[in-house]
Amino acid sequence: MTQAEDAKIGDVVDRSDMVCIIGAGPSGLAMARALKARDIPFNHYERNEGIGGLWDIDAPGSPMYSSAHFISSKTLSGFSEFPMPDDYPDYPSHDLVLAYLRDFAARYGLDEGIQLGLGIDQIDKSDDGTWLVHRADGVSVLYRAVVCCTGAQWEPNLPPTPGSFAGTVMHSAAYRDARDFVGKRVVVVGGGNSACDIAVDVSRVAARTIISMRRGYWFIPKHIFGVPSDVFAEHGPPMPKWLEQPLMAWILQRLYGKPERLGLQRPDHKLFETHPVLNSNLYLSLQHGDIIARPGILGTDREEIEFVDGSLEQADAIIYATGYRHSAPYAQDLFGDSQHPNLYLTCFSREHHNLFGGSFTETNTGAYIQFDTTAMMIASYLDDQSRRPDVAARFDRLIKADKPDLSGGIKFDSSPRHKGYVDGHAFIRYRAKLSKQLGWGFKDAPVISGRRTSPLAAAGDGRVAR
Ligand SMILES: Cc1cc2nc3c(=O)[nH]c(=O)nc-3n(C[C@H](O)[C@H](O)[C@H](O)COP(=O)(O)OP(=O)(O)OC[C@H]3O[C@@H](n4cnc5c(N)ncnc54)[C@H](O)[C@@H]3O)c2cc1C
Repeated sequence: MTQAEDAKIGDVVDRSDMVCIIGAGPSGLAMARALKARDIPFNHYERNEGIGGLWDIDAPGSPMYSSAHFISSKTLSGFSEFPMPDDYPDYPSHDLVLAYLRDFAARYGLDEGIQLGLGIDQIDKSDDGTWLVHRADGVSVLYRAVVCCTGAQWEPNLPPTPGSFAGTVMHSAAYRDARDFVGKRVVVVGGGNSACDIAVDVSRVAARTIISMRRGYWFIPKHIFGVPSDVFAEHGPPMPKWLEQPLMAWILQRLYGKPERLGLQRPDHKLFETHPVLNSNLYLSLQHGDIIARPGILGTDREEIEFVDGSLEQADAIIYATGYRHSAPYAQDLFGDSQHPNLYLTCFSREHHNLFGGSFTETNTGAYIQFDTTAMMIASYLDDQSRRPDVAARFDRLIKADKPDLSGGIKFDSSPRHKGYVDGHAFIRYRAKLSKQLGWGFKDAPVISGRRTSPLAAAGDGRVAR
């Protein structure tokens, strides 16, 4: 949907019958497909020269690293109607994920509509409720709605290092591979997926590798009884969380032992209460002594690092894998909290009509199915504004007042990372209920082939994306 334009710096172009999508990563691509399927006109902007979002390791500022693989399995990670290829491994590498995203864009004819290399600097709300989008080329464009699909992992959260550490300090966002750490003494800080991956990676070449965690976490291997862990969990009999949590914890501890045996701290929360960490290599590296576990850093003195248990290590580098802030610098005043914007169903601004966040869903399932159906909800609502204004008005009231419990019975951790966090299955169930109530016509469900219907296929109204 690229339009030929002869606009100059300072011009304001009126496209107030169109929607603006910012960002061409997975969420932006899902959004473009959903709008296209409903014949809703839109413009799509991407500041980088290629599509694929953070999966493009060459994109400036991408947090991707060479050894990164999916942490959700290919079976449960594809977009609806477009599963990941059969010949992909269970957990594809970042370059396979990028190839998949680009194939997806080509398959649905999304790529030709994306204006690459054109970022958005600022968005402002006009008095008449339209959105003025200021592009990096100096042109401003009026749109009826803006969908911000600009990701949530571009602004590193880097804590200060206490004391006078004299070595290299970096965030995992800047880490690409282990080659800078050959023969070095390295401390990796964090207990999430990136921290575990990077510690394992570095330990293959470093003189000594420490992983420092402030608390204990649960680590889930990538396979359980020979199948990807998310597939194993999905295919088991449905059970309430109060039963599933201790049962899965019991299975993990019987199969892999208690984390305390390997020097890790005992988890201070129940399984699933924090974002899942999927890693089969960390335990092996700890078992081999290639990685040593330590608690949080208390202080530093030149090359010496003291941990809260009084242990000391000499180190040349600290890599902080301490996560990201969900910033949207071009619209931060509109989204408020930079740690996690408070949006209805993780995507609808409650204060600003027709402002949507497509990238802010934090959940315990693969992200793409959530992006997909989030995009379908947004597209259905925009469609209703033209075709079924009474239904759109009904949904407007829900945006303002509806506060569903999307925890799925899990008491998510109180850390900033888990603010706004939702249980993927509770989210799916609630969207399916809304879709039925509002006549949106899609059945929201994950894409396990043969097990559940896909949302697009279920639309059944001729609006299936091509
Ligand atoms: C190491 C790692 C592993 C992961 N593993 C998984 C996994 O296994 N499964 C899973 O489901 N998720 C995983 N994720 C989560 C990841 O967030 C999603 O896979 C996905 O990339 C997020 O998609 P997105 O489109 O929201 O954001 P992004 O992929 O970040 O894309 C956002 C796009 O917006 C563009 N953009 C930003 N600002 C502007 C602007 N002002 N103007 C124009 N364009 C702009 C960016 O250049 C980028 O292309 C992982 C993340 C990381 C970092």
